[in-house]
Amino acid sequence: MEIGLLIILLSGAFAGYIGRAKGSSFFIWFLVGACVPVLGVIVAVFYRMELNEPRRQCPGCGKVVKLYDALCTRCGTELEYTDEQIPPESALSAR
Ligand SMILES: [Zn+2]
Repeated sequence: MEIGLLIILLSGAFAGYIGRAKGSSFFIWFLVGACVPVLGVIVAVFYRMELNEPRRQCPGCGKVVKLYDALCTRCGTELEYTDEQIPPESALSAR
C-alpha cells in the first residue's frame, strides 16, 4: 500500500521534472505522472523528444510538420526531402 503511494509520488515527481525541463508546467506533469504512474513518465520523456525533432514548413498550407513526416497532416501534400529546416522548439526556448 505504502509502496504504491511511493511509486505514484516518485512517478509524479519524475514526470513533473521532465515536463518542467522542457518548459511546461511541473504541476500538470506531476498530475499526469501521479494519475498514470510509470507510463506518465514515459509520456513526458517522449513528449520532450518530440520537441527536439527538426521541423519544416509544408509548402502547400504552411503548417509546421516534423521533418520525417512524408505527408502533411493538414492538407495531405506529399513532402519531399528538403534541407530547409525550422529549428526544433527546444532550441527556441533554450537560453
Ligand atoms: Zn500542408
